[in-house]
Amino acid sequence: MPLRTDTEALLATLGVDRSAFTGGGMASVSPITGEEIADVTPATAEEAAAAIARASAAFRVWRMVPAPKRGELIRLFGEELRAAKAELGRLVSIEAGKSLSEGAGEVQEMIDICDFAVGLSRQLYGLTIATERPGHRMMETWHPLGVVGVISAFNFPVAVWSWNTALALVCGDPVIWKPSEKTPLTALASMAVLARALRRFGEAPEGLAQVLIGGAEVGAVLVDSPDVALVSATGSTRMGRIVGPKVAARFGRAILELGGNNAGIVCPSADLDMALRAVAFGAMGTAGQRCTTLRRLFVHEDVYDTLVPGLIRAYGSVTVGNPLESSALVGPLIDGAAYRAMQAALAAARAAGGTVHGGERVAIGPDTAFYARPALVEMPEQTGPVLEETFAPILYVMKYSDFDAAIEAHNAVGAGLSSSVFTTDLREMELFLSARGSDCGIANVNIGTSGAEIGGAFGGEKETGGGRESGSDAWKGYMRRATNTINYSHDLPLAQGVVFDI
Ligand code: NAD
Repeated sequence: MPLRTDTEALLATLGVDRSAFTGGGMASVSPITGEEIADVTPATAEEAAAAIARASAAFRVWRMVPAPKRGELIRLFGEELRAAKAELGRLVSIEAGKSLSEGAGEVQEMIDICDFAVGLSRQLYGLTIATERPGHRMMETWHPLGVVGVISAFNFPVAVWSWNTALALVCGDPVIWKPSEKTPLTALASMAVLARALRRFGEAPEGLAQVLIGGAEVGAVLVDSPDVALVSATGSTRMGRIVGPKVAARFGRAILELGGNNAGIVCPSADLDMALRAVAFGAMGTAGQRCTTLRRLFVHEDVYDTLVPGLIRAYGSVTVGNPLESSALVGPLIDGAAYRAMQAALAAARAAGGTVHGGERVAIGPDTAFYARPALVEMPEQTGPVLEETFAPILYVMKYSDFDAAIEAHNAVGAGLSSSVFTTDLREMELFLSARGSDCGIANVNIGTSGAEIGGAFGGEKETGGGRESGSDAWKGYMRRATNTINYSHDLPLAQGVVFDI
């Protein structure tokens, strides 16, 4: 079946009105073949402003709905996602080029965060705090924050939105979504699934969840509006450098989930078979287009000659291909620009003394599609392109002899998202997780850098932006905190023993 026909059938099954994906003037392209599969309608600045006004009105209603009742909407959303999993997962694969298993996995992540958020809707707890004044009580309350603008990247086209949306709606906040201009169809489909849950819920205000299709200029309307209380922006560090200061300048709140340059350290005591499999998935999975993709590997000199030849063999034999038609483990790059960035990084690595294994283009389908064999690059030291994130399957491998020096090198890049150590030595493990160990938001032992579960807070430090989403107490980012002190005595003692008698 031609990809366009397949796509249109999926969109129809998922409940998207045909007018939303035909004749709109903004092309949607599948990286699987590079062909146009739909054309969508970008929102104008006026439409974006109107969406913000609708969301602001919805906030006044939604914030007063009891949180467990808000959780009921997310429970229904989880049910609808379960029913739509196969079709939505396939659409993710078509639009983002992921394998069918990874496409379905992304929808599973949406379901998981819904389950988490339903429980959370009964656990938006504040503290009760001891006061220094007799006859007083002090406590914290958490209130809905306001309109949340979600700006998302192409590589997790739906999961990132759901992480934000499930929490925001339970926390009492309306959501406006500006998906990547490279993945508008999965956004329209996800909104259709949510719309079914909203209809079943019945009492949600209009404008509670909206989508604005378009590029950076549409996202900028959310970023600049004082009526958008929180901007949760996922994408490149380049984007975060623009968005972060603009939101800060108007004293808005931002959750920034930006680029990663994730590394692993393989120690002499490591289970090398396990390390090889974890490195292979972490570095080559999703064609190296995960924010948590493993991009740098430090291998101890005692095990280098055992592990690295095995890895090079795995790189040579991994199947690259159409993610829909074969059991290919590595699908396409998102577009020609990504392929050219990959080749530029490999050229720079060669110039810096690197030995490149793989990385060449693989001819699959029309030449509008960009498939590449993943590249493993043995580097003499951490220089040049190794210091930056190139959003493609390139793994830079370096030899180390001293663990402390390896940790120093591990931390000596701008990004701070995810990290791993492979060791069975307790001291190395604890050191890696300690205050002078990995400086990343995610630090793992004997698993790769990618594939986080929704139960933990997700995000990273430094140029990754500092934001946290998903599990643990990330919900606090979507609410405002009030400290309340109540005097039930007949006196008015002042804090710190201050006297002010009139
Ligand atoms: P991108 O920065 O090109 O675009 C991301 C989103 O930001 C898009 O929706 C885009 O339209 C919007 N945008 C760009 N400039 C903007 C501006 N000035 N104002 C408002 N909106 C703007 O990123 P991409 O190529 O889609 O995604 C890949 C990048 O995202 C990688 O760097 C990857 O590491 C990162 N990423 C990070 C995480 C994380 O959780 N840390 C998750 C996924 C992807």
